[in-house]
Amino acid sequence: MGVFADIEKRDHEQVVFCSDKESGLRAIISIHDTTLGPSLGGCRMWNYASEEEALRDVLRLSRGMTYKASIAGLNLGGGKAVIIGNSKTDKNELLFRSYGRFIEGLGGRYITAEDVGTSVKDMEWVRMETKYVTGIAQAHGGSGDPSPVTGLGVFTGMKACAKRVYGSDSLSGKQVSVQGLGHVGHNLVERLVKDGAEVYVTDIDDEKISAVVDEFGVEAVSTEEIYGLDVDIFSPCALGAIINDDTIPQLKCDIVAGGANNQLEDESKHGHVLKDNGILYAPDYAINAGGLINVSNELEGYNRERALRQAEGIYDILMDIFDRAEQEDIPTHYASNRVAEDRINNIGRIKNIYVGHQTTVNLDNRR
Ligand code: NAD
Repeated sequence: MGVFADIEKRDHEQVVFCSDKESGLRAIISIHDTTLGPSLGGCRMWNYASEEEALRDVLRLSRGMTYKASIAGLNLGGGKAVIIGNSKTDKNELLFRSYGRFIEGLGGRYITAEDVGTSVKDMEWVRMETKYVTGIAQAHGGSGDPSPVTGLGVFTGMKACAKRVYGSDSLSGKQVSVQGLGHVGHNLVERLVKDGAEVYVTDIDDEKISAVVDEFGVEAVSTEEIYGLDVDIFSPCALGAIINDDTIPQLKCDIVAGGANNQLEDESKHGHVLKDNGILYAPDYAINAGGLINVSNELEGYNRERALRQAEGIYDILMDIFDRAEQEDIPTHYASNRVAEDRINNIGRIKNIYVGHQTTVNLDNRR
């Protein structure tokens, strides 16, 4: 398939190929949809095996951001960027400043942030060339680490799931298994234990397991055991594609609700199988939208309290998704897509009423 066919297939608005010999930058910026506002999404640095693979990834990821921003009720569109290169050996000031100048050239249609392979430090270099960057350090008026806000969103979303399945949103006494004890998983475990849940954890990193077991007195299990535990709720907070043909038959839980991205290995299949097995699935990009909510707050002058309150709104967002899924008898991730698409279409229509108004972003109020 040619480049334009790839772009047209999922209705992407604009794809920018950035090449700079001086810095060695080879990047692709993909703007999927700006109906709701400027596109926002992180910049991934990865040693892609081919340019086609990089293009495929950035098209897929930017489209996902459109849905995430829409379902979270934000006035943002979906965008993403990839830098082709090794994040361990190829990073330097010139590379990221060169990337920053390409972003500046888009005049605010795309706002970047950190992602896999990039960090707050890299965004500081980007910021030397453009104001269209978020996820910068709190010392510079940025929003800092988004994980606590993501953790709160996942916790709140899990309560919504409990309300749906058990009639009460209390997690006290509920058995919850958490896969992955990184930034999000650690924060989630803390909240669950405080709320009186009985928590089982796993990670591939023994140090992270010991830290959480020592701090919260939770029970550790092996990475293989986590799927088959007889628990109420399974919370994937590590990798994608963990809901698949091998793991679904092992699941004994009533609910899958976790922070990891792209949990369903095959969207067209595994969401249906969960539904048929009577397992309530919290669509990943809705329940983990706290991170995006956090950086979006930076656009209006960052306020952690406001970001946390907004992340608690994930409770009602999930309830709406579950209602829609029930009404239309469809898997929850399809219902979520429909809610997100409806919002984009409806807001797109009202934008015709008075063309003079545009969503503005003020990034000048940071130090
Ligand atoms: P992280 O890298 O801090 O933590 C991931 C943890 O998973 C690590 O401790 C790692 O050792 C563990 N892990 C990896 N493979 C594993 C396996 N096979 N079994 C068990 N554990 C394994 O990442 P994070 O920031 O906590 O993010 C976790 C997930 O949530 C990712 O999928 C990320 O894309 C998603 N997410 C994070 C945020 C955020 O704010 N950090 C926001 C939205 C989505």
